Amino acid sequence: MEEFKWEDRIPSARELRGGFENADDILSRIMGSDSSSIGSDLLHDTLLAKSVNSKRIKRSDATRIVSVTNQKGGVGKTTTTVNVATSFAAEGIPVLVIDLDPQANTSSSLGVRQRGKGIYEVMTGQAGMQEVVRESPIFPSLEVAPSSIDLSAIELEMAGEPQREAVLKKCLFSYLERSGKKYEYVFIDCAPSLGLLVLNALTASREVLIPVQVEYYALEGLNQLLRTINLVRLNFNPDLKNVMMILNMVDRRTILSRKICEAVREAYPSLVLSSSIPRLVRVAEAAAAGESLTSFDPSSPAAVAYRQACIEIAERL
Ligand code: ATP
Ligand code: MG
Repeated sequence: MEEFKWEDRIPSARELRGGFENADDILSRIMGSDSSSIGSDLLHDTLLAKSVNSKRIKRSDATRIVSVTNQKGGVGKTTTTVNVATSFAAEGIPVLVIDLDPQANTSSSLGVRQRGKGIYEVMTGQAGMQEVVRESPIFPSLEVAPSSIDLSAIELEMAGEPQREAVLKKCLFSYLERSGKKYEYVFIDCAPSLGLLVLNALTASREVLIPVQVEYYALEGLNQLLRTINLVRLNFNPDLKNVMMILNMVDRRTILSRKICEAVREAYPSLVLSSSIPRLVRVAEAAAAGESLTSFDPSSPAAVAYRQACIEIAERL
């Protein structure tokens, strides 16, 4: 009997020429439509990453000032600010992040801890913005105005002052004019409240980005927030026009998560970005390591989702 030789069964390079499958074909064949949900998730993520990473982010001629706000705690304001800002900065787009939350998580995630003066001193007239803005070690085109716990006292301190809602606006606008810095984006990370600090952020902004956590009570509080934004627009800041929502912590595999996304999109069809951020442990791991996803794991599906959101935000005006 003829001896079985496995080497003979391997097709030669000539036989294979023109017949090689590329990585996408192999994934589509293995993970195709009738495969497991993990398989189709992997296929979806791979194809999305390829398409998102091949696109360029549109540049902005003017400085777009965006408050990232939601009075609900823990919905992803800081995570959104950090990862949207770093996704823009990774492209070389000049970005300033103002940390307007006394918890100062944004400052530390961007590698800038307040040493000496910060945004509290700026808003109380003890320092100019140019004295506190520091370059982030993550990307050279990213700068941060850090905060510290001192900021928690400012609402009481400013309570009796005239035009107390416009303090940040004055400081920021005079800094932008005097420094000659050509930031394309200024993101302001807000604390979970609708107090004077948030009012200052909204008065200084032309746009708002609202992270919406995809959970059972997702819609609760959104109307109140939109009413507040509208009151600010009518009373203090007619330039506050572009309102965007971004769905965060989406779990593609649960029906509840899908239904909540649909309900939010149905309630605010023109406001909700079509890109959404998946709930992934990698996001929390990056935050725990005090880093942005863009630097911690740029290939993570959540980092890809943030880049996709940036492409969309850049096109939105
Ligand atoms: P606060 O109201 O206290 O300022 P926040 O709205 O800024 O909170 P984050 O601090 O960004 O919310 O997020 C709250 C927690 O949820 C953090 O531990 C963060 O790592 C985690 N988180 C945010 N987005 C995601 C996500 N897409 N997947 C997994 N974890 C997430
Ligand atoms: Mg926060």
